[in-house]
Amino acid sequence: MADQLSGAGLAAASDIPSLDRLLNADALQPALATHGRTQVVAALRRDLDALRKRALDGGVPRHELDAAAVAGRTSAALDEAARPRLRAVYNLTGTVLHTNLGRALLPDEAVASVLRALTTPANLEFDLDTGGRGDRDDLIDDLLCELTGAEAATVVNNNAAAVLLMLNALADRREVVVSRGELVEIGGAFRIPDIMKRAGARLVEVGTTNRTHAADYENAIGPRTAMLMKVHCSNYAVTGFTKSVSVAEVAALAHARGLPATVDLGSGTLVDLTQFGLPKEDTVRETIAAGADLVTFSGDKLLGGPQAGLLVGRADLIRKIKKNPLKRALRVSKLTLAALEPVLQLYRAPEFLAQRLTTLRLLTRPLRDIQPQAERLRGVLAHAAGPGYAVEAVPMFSQIGSGALPIDQLPSYGLAVRHAGTGRPGRHLDRLETMLRKLPVPVIGRIADDALWLDLRCLEDRDEAAFAAQLAEPLA
Ligand SMILES: *Cc1c(COP(=O)(O)O)cnc(C)c1O
Repeated sequence: MADQLSGAGLAAASDIPSLDRLLNADALQPALATHGRTQVVAALRRDLDALRKRALDGGVPRHELDAAAVAGRTSAALDEAARPRLRAVYNLTGTVLHTNLGRALLPDEAVASVLRALTTPANLEFDLDTGGRGDRDDLIDDLLCELTGAEAATVVNNNAAAVLLMLNALADRREVVVSRGELVEIGGAFRIPDIMKRAGARLVEVGTTNRTHAADYENAIGPRTAMLMKVHCSNYAVTGFTKSVSVAEVAALAHARGLPATVDLGSGTLVDLTQFGLPKEDTVRETIAAGADLVTFSGDKLLGGPQAGLLVGRADLIRKIKKNPLKRALRVSKLTLAALEPVLQLYRAPEFLAQRLTTLRLLTRPLRDIQPQAERLRGVLAHAAGPGYAVEAVPMFSQIGSGALPIDQLPSYGLAVRHAGTGRPGRHLDRLETMLRKLPVPVIGRIADDALWLDLRCLEDRDEAAFAAQLAEPLA
């Protein structure tokens, strides 16, 4: 190689243009206008240093020193560095509320509200009736009470924070009775026993993994007991020879001893999902009506709103929680409140919910929409993937995700890609999976049973053209 480049084609270190000359060159002006002088100077220095080193080591092809060539490399490096790290992707994993892909997608009303709150002053903690100081919780607590039947409500950063705050405010240095069957690990670092410890509460486990009886709770109550707590088994199901004690029973036991009953509902839905053809999940209202004194749940799971932890229940307990210093540390930003309020408003008109609430629209998207889409996109993906792969439109099952209803599956449709040749398919599927992940808008599917599965439930019709356009050329 070096021989071919010798002679007139090679530049020496002394031929390398100066920084000043390049900064004045026409070719560099677009980069200066886009990225500013500071970044362009730094990028040019890096490029010129590399050229100098190569020139001293043996030479650089002369054309690489042209202002246009330097500008091209500099712009490419700066564009790459400026590319957002948080990027849009297509969620074709089949898990609608995918924690790693950002969970719930917000409806347009919430997006508009966030934009407004970000760009204009707002009455976040300002009482427009009196002109005095307000409480940010006032913006949503009446809506939450209306939708859940609770007396009072407050909101923090996420449900893990809600549980931590509740335990610290109501059970610091006291005991909390929980069934062994409900000591869940939600994922990441959220385990009920760990949160309990951090909150200063002492966990008293009762019953066994598969069976807990009312008497187990009753026998565990002592002078140090602060509350009886139930935790939704979000991401697993205990089946077979099982027994758990209902919220109503636990609440009755707690109340007979003058104690509160609390429930970490996890996903916490505000409406009966069976009316939309989805599996039954206890609503927050039902849980309150069953006697729970305090219920915590997430804002960005089934609720379909922003990341938040909602606490609803008895007014005296919510007051105590709001006075706890952790509440200030865990409080939500105006963005969260701006997004949450319009989402809660949507629930006041349940007849429109399945259309307007994005999460519910995706969860209830009918097969008659998804199947033809799979058939339309089959050829597109087959062409993009090339002759080494066989693409089929096939039925599959989506999951709700985010710890909601772990065993229930939603009939869906999508594309299954298999390696067309003989031999071990794994490597070929990994290669295709990687190419899809490297697209400008990465396509995220899942590999199982020697196939790459792309569930189309979450590719709404309005996004289909852009999705197909990315696959117009064969993937390389
Ligand atoms: C998801 C979940 C949590 C954590 O909620 P985040 O909003 O993710 O913090 C806590 N408890 C249960 C039962 C859950 O399902």
